[in-house]
Amino acid sequence: MEHKRVWTNNELEDLVRQLSLALEATQLGIWQHNIAKNQTRWDEQLQRIYGVEKGLLDVVWLESVHPDDLVAAQTIFEQAVDSRCDYASEFRIVTPEGYVRHIRSRAKFFIDVNSDPCFIGAEWDVTEDVLRATQLAREHEAAERSRAEARHAADHDYLTGLRNRRAFDRLLDEDLGDNVTEMALAHIDIDHFKEINDRFGHAGGDKVLKHVAHIIRSVVSHDEVGVRLGGDEFAVLVKQGAERLHTVVTAIRAALAFPVEIDATSVQIECSIGLTTAPKSDANTLLSYSDIALYEAKRSGRNRDTLFSPEMAAKAAASRSMLETIRRGIENSDFLPYYQVQVDAKSGQVVGLEALARWASPGGLRTPVDFLELAAMNGLLEKLDDMILRKVLSDLAQWTLADLDPPRVSVNLSAARLEDPTLPQKLARLSIPKGRVSFELIETIFLDKLSNQAKANIAAIRDLGIGIEIDDLGSGHASLLGLLELKPDRVKLDKLLVIPAGHNVAPRTLVSSLVQIARALGIEVVAEGVETEQLADTMAKLGVDILQGYAFGQPQPAQEIVSHFRSRDPHRRSACAIMQP
Ligand code: GH3
Ligand code: MG
Repeated sequence: MEHKRVWTNNELEDLVRQLSLALEATQLGIWQHNIAKNQTRWDEQLQRIYGVEKGLLDVVWLESVHPDDLVAAQTIFEQAVDSRCDYASEFRIVTPEGYVRHIRSRAKFFIDVNSDPCFIGAEWDVTEDVLRATQLAREHEAAERSRAEARHAADHDYLTGLRNRRAFDRLLDEDLGDNVTEMALAHIDIDHFKEINDRFGHAGGDKVLKHVAHIIRSVVSHDEVGVRLGGDEFAVLVKQGAERLHTVVTAIRAALAFPVEIDATSVQIECSIGLTTAPKSDANTLLSYSDIALYEAKRSGRNRDTLFSPEMAAKAAASRSMLETIRRGIENSDFLPYYQVQVDAKSGQVVGLEALARWASPGGLRTPVDFLELAAMNGLLEKLDDMILRKVLSDLAQWTLADLDPPRVSVNLSAARLEDPTLPQKLARLSIPKGRVSFELIETIFLDKLSNQAKANIAAIRDLGIGIEIDDLGSGHASLLGLLELKPDRVKLDKLLVIPAGHNVAPRTLVSSLVQIARALGIEVVAEGVETEQLADTMAKLGVDILQGYAFGQPQPAQEIVSHFRSRDPHRRSACAIMQP
């Protein structure tokens, strides 16, 4: 027989007090809903939470629920009523003052003493928890986003958005997938990009880099990769071999054919491209081979595509080793001037010397054909020019000290040095004797498009008492206007024009016309490549002022060339002897 415990009034009062203290401590609000009568009662704490009028007997809960949560809150409640199962819900309410609070609600179904189906529930305010959780979620999301951004930044070039070298190297180390057979790489470098930077500033250069990146992005498919390797170098990696690479490169060239607009000027962008293919297993050779092919494309004239070949690699290795030897030669000061005389066409007197660079290399004496191009391509010309000039100045000083009355010496100055804003200071420090030295500038490179910097440097060179000569006139495309603007002291006729003038009428007429023009502008004319007495006569008759060539002497080292100074002043022969080794 069931034994029912009978509570005393005191016990019941005690229990009720304990319960209300517990409810107060937990801030729980209690509600009861009679399903049969559709009636809801809230205790005081719940009324406080909702901010509704105290003492209401029947509240309409949904009136307080936030409009955005209304449908969901109602649905969950009705489902619990229908199923008479436990109820759990969470929703927002709007208090009469307009505050939004987050409420969590739990309830149990029961049958009351009148046999009515009812729910008894508890609700509490979880606003602080929700806000904290929302804040945490937001912070987590921001941290995720910045981690993703950092990952993206580490793998992509900020300027163009293409992948960077780091990402590319990693890609080549990864498994490239089963359907990949032959990999192919196009290694692209913009031609004369520095000129674009010089002309339009860094922002103009950046625009061109973005333009090229845009073209690359528009031609690669989703499983191909466009990369900015650095500076003005880009690469496109395709995974379906040479034929696909050819298609991609053709599309890049077609897009490059359209000029890009910078500062309202249409600029034609040209690129050199080195191409190579490799089996998947050899992916890491791609970049070094394409680099060799690119170097070859640049060397053979730029704005072209060059496919890598093993011979090219052998040549590149030889060039590298040669370059090393040149660098060592520069460090050891192994480059020196040889001098070739220039004589007055009428009197035969020595009036000038041209200083020609020679290299006392470990394998013997070498001429510029062996080292000039390599030195120029690797930015070594300035050092070479500087070394030769210093040695010329030292020779001149010795000759002067020995009272040899040396003639003027012409020294080559590479065009790039004219762009160096510090050139005048550097030259001033060398204390070059006035009227004793001329600089030869190569006509092919720049005469018609002298930058302001070059013009300023030429003026400064003149102020230092250094003459200006234009070398190889007739081999380039200098206009008369260019010549007029520069007003050099002398122009040198290229031997490719001088030699045929010995036996052909057309080049002779051309020489004669150039002489007349130069004379009208007050410029002296020097003929190079005068190899015979007969040619010397012809040049003299055509009005050329100065002659240089084997007919008068080969290039010779400093201690030998002094023997030619005798013809300037036969009384000083004894002084020459001092200079002989
Ligand atoms: P070449 O025909 O031999 O390629 O000569 P180049 O003038 O294009 O010279 P090179 O490729 O050797 O040099 C690239 C230049 O690009 C050097 C650097 O001043 C410039 N450069 C590198 N990065 C940037 C960049 O982010 N923005 C701009 N505007 N210029 C850059
Ligand atoms: Mg370049």
